[in-house]
Amino acid sequence: MTDDVSNSQLSPDGSTLADLVNRLGSQPVAQSARTVGERALWAEGHGASTMLVSAELAAVTARVAPAAPVGPVGSGTAGAGPVLAGSVSEVSGWRVTRAPVTPENLAALRGLVPNLRPQPLGLTTSAGFGDRLGVATPGHVDAMRAAGVASEIAPIFAQQSMRENARTGRTVQEVMDDATLGAFLAGWQGPVGADADHLKSEADIDLCLGAGYTFFTIDPGEHVNSAADDMSGAALQQAFEALPWDALDSSPDDLRARLSASSLDLGYRSLAFGPGELERAAVKYGGAVAHVTRLFRHLTATAAHAVELEVSVDETATPTSLAEHLYLAHEMKRLGVTWVSLAPRFVGAFEKGVEYIGDLAALALDLKGHAAIARELGPYKLSLHSGSDKFTVYPIAAQAAGGAVHLKTAGTSYLEALRVVGAYEPELLRAVTELGIQRFSEDVKTYHISGSPQGMPDLAALDGSALAALLEQVDARQVLHVTFGSALKAHGAELLRVLREHEDAYRGALRRHFERHLVPFKGHTSGGAL
Ligand SMILES: [Zn+2]
Repeated sequence: MTDDVSNSQLSPDGSTLADLVNRLGSQPVAQSARTVGERALWAEGHGASTMLVSAELAAVTARVAPAAPVGPVGSGTAGAGPVLAGSVSEVSGWRVTRAPVTPENLAALRGLVPNLRPQPLGLTTSAGFGDRLGVATPGHVDAMRAAGVASEIAPIFAQQSMRENARTGRTVQEVMDDATLGAFLAGWQGPVGADADHLKSEADIDLCLGAGYTFFTIDPGEHVNSAADDMSGAALQQAFEALPWDALDSSPDDLRARLSASSLDLGYRSLAFGPGELERAAVKYGGAVAHVTRLFRHLTATAAHAVELEVSVDETATPTSLAEHLYLAHEMKRLGVTWVSLAPRFVGAFEKGVEYIGDLAALALDLKGHAAIARELGPYKLSLHSGSDKFTVYPIAAQAAGGAVHLKTAGTSYLEALRVVGAYEPELLRAVTELGIQRFSEDVKTYHISGSPQGMPDLAALDGSALAALLEQVDARQVLHVTFGSALKAHGAELLRVLREHEDAYRGALRRHFERHLVPFKGHTSGGAL
């Protein structure tokens, strides 16, 4: 895996790429320039007027395929592989195509530039950067480079849950396309994945397969029965008997015979089911096993490109005990499910956009146990969901799991956007915050957070630049975090305008913010070989 943005890259005619782009380009985005085979590619212009440019030696074009006519709307040749559709000109022996940023041209770009096409990342240490506004990817690329992890952590720039898309009004294809453009503009040269996050149905899977996603996060949370934690005696037995045994291709006796007396050596201790623990684990997670199995089979039967699976039970009421993890993983495996990462619900609280809430020593022990199970029964990665802003957790997770980690962040890039808005247009941040306070009780419903407007400072007392300090306050961060849908609906266009006008400031904020997330994993990564 490499991400060499080098000015010493050669263009197809043997000159340096930088020279070629300066010669043929008009307002080229230098960082975007790259060569792929006998073609040079770069972006030109800015914001809404950005163009995608491809240049080939005319002699090569003529040899490879009959060339499109030179003219304003030459769309290349059908059947000769992906082609940017735009205006074609010939300049000193080069055939140059300038194409607008459209879904079709971004699809062609993914065809032309292999590393921009999402691919399975396997066991490589990875990081997911959700981006609700669609303009954060260049800042994420900057952070990967600044942290010095571009060659050891594989990024996922396209990552949104169905819940987020419903609130931002973006489609899965738009999320993919924005990430492709951002990675191209910033000159990203390493592999990328694309996370169809928190999927709950076959229809979600089909939609995301169609858009080229590769990392499918199945969320069986609705099938996790957290009430099992407090069940015992007859109630537990009854719930155990009532599990969907057909879907689990098993029976109560069969499961007991297989697992009740078994134990797993975790290296530092051995893990076995105590009295009633197997039944409780099955009652809690049996429905989830059946659901994941069904969706996994649908995914693998339907996918026409290579995909990988993550299983996430993080958004549930109570922690996943080690015995429950053992049951869940063992049973999914028995049913033929394969996955590259799993997000248990860890002890304490991983709330959105704020530090870890809980006892760090207890978390360290919990992570150590989950990581050991993942090593023994996989190996697969532990996925840290709601993983942003947990600065105390990263060194612990990096140590416990070695490189076997997927770090997933979502809304924190939006909060960094609001920080920039607060610096340049504080009254817009005020409007977004006031709306968030109004909308909070409705918008918070599907989230597990403890912050609320009651804990926020009095907005009326904050003026001008003091407003940006809201981004340092836990309750305000959480209120802003969960009300993004309402904010984008009412102020989305203004927010995007500010970010485009202050593009460098946003990139800088993201670089600084994510560098802190990534550095703790440097030197603790898997290199893809666990
Ligand atoms: Zn999650």
